[in-house]
Amino acid sequence: MEHVVVVGAGLGGVRTVEQLRACGYEGRLTLIGAEDHPPYDRPPLSKQILSGVWDAERVILRDKPALDELNVSYRLGAAATGLNGTTVELDDGSTVAGDAVVIATGVTARTIPGQPDGVWTLRTLDDATALRDALDASRSLLVVGGGFIGAEVAHAAKARGLDVTVLEAAPSPCERALGPTIGPLVNRLFTENGVDLRCGTALTGFVDAHTVTLGDGSTLSADIVLVGIGATPDLGWLAGSGVDVGDGIACDRSGRVVGAPNVWALGDVAAWWDEVRGARCRTEHWTTTVDQAAVVARDVLGQELPAPAVPYVWSDQFGLKIQLVGRPDLADNVLPLIGEGLDGGPVRGTVVGYLAGDRLMAVAGFGAPRYLPRLRGLVATGAHRGTVLSLTQELIGGVV
Ligand code: FAD
Repeated sequence: MEHVVVVGAGLGGVRTVEQLRACGYEGRLTLIGAEDHPPYDRPPLSKQILSGVWDAERVILRDKPALDELNVSYRLGAAATGLNGTTVELDDGSTVAGDAVVIATGVTARTIPGQPDGVWTLRTLDDATALRDALDASRSLLVVGGGFIGAEVAHAAKARGLDVTVLEAAPSPCERALGPTIGPLVNRLFTENGVDLRCGTALTGFVDAHTVTLGDGSTLSADIVLVGIGATPDLGWLAGSGVDVGDGIACDRSGRVVGAPNVWALGDVAAWWDEVRGARCRTEHWTTTVDQAAVVARDVLGQELPAPAVPYVWSDQFGLKIQLVGRPDLADNVLPLIGEGLDGGPVRGTVVGYLAGDRLMAVAGFGAPRYLPRLRGLVATGAHRGTVLSLTQELIGGVV
């Protein structure tokens, strides 16, 4: 292997070049990124950047001198427009030929058909700094979609004193990640923090950038309307390359792109083969991206692969950290473990387990960070209900 070309200079791209060097690769490395910014981190965009505690510099993962230190050639502000074998075509008409290509081009925020200019989405650093400034100059925010990003923007706006309304088509926010059973707890998290939460309410259209129409014929207006309804991979540039692009780039369990020799993909754009489900699965999680970069770098170099990691995702909302370890999508029942949140008590300090039969598949904590590391081990082994309950009692009693 003499030249590895990494397309996408975000988290997955930068972690891949770091891992390749850490694994001893001394050949050429080229990192291609569509944005002008050096690689930066996205989770702080809806947290520290929107709340104003960080400036834009703090989110940079590796600035240009740090990329030079790794001996990485970078092309920033250059979008890949085509792939021919392991040769990448760029929007300025040039090409970069490698022996291996790693694709980590992420996703773009989904929009609503007919969405007017002036309606906000949040995906990039430029989006975040502009939105922070707009929040400063506004009195009200309407968030369409109560997923993690919508929730974090709602929180940042409430903290700035704005009136905030969240429209969510499902019965509760964050239901896709956390499941329906704990919906009432999540609803309380929003309403107890002063959000006008309207669940089961779908937007039917826009009057303009500040006013939406609802199913009952009424309208809702706010200074800022933000659409947070998920994201989609932008894969048009791979048309004609032979790469299988459905919902994401189809990959095997080490990130090799199906039907494209010496091409790998990872991160939000990639749908890796999931042994447990027996299907391809695309996730949009920071930790998964980092774990996948470690796998891809070793696979590119023909080295032994690390053991699969337990998935982990977090979100900071209304002053508490929500942490999710494992795979709630594999569970068929929910077991309250710590706290009274599922029975109407305080949300903070609540921990719930997600079980398939009597085996633990996942754990969610709401403002309970000290418990999660211990419970993570039980998720990794798929512990039985009895073991989970007894360890939880010991945790509550401070025995372990
Ligand atoms: P990105 O980091 O998005 O990087 C992809 C890069 O590729 C981008 O810079 C893009 O411009 C570039 N690119 C795209 N197309 C091309 C092209 N054709 N040519 C060249 N370059 C291209 N996850 C969590 O687990 N917890 C959180 O709390 C959390 N918070 C988040 C908050 C926000 C606001 C956002 C947007 C995401 C958050 N995430 C969170 C998700 C997490 O940031 C992503 O999972 C992670 O960034 C994925 O890394 P990636 O490399 O796949 O994509």
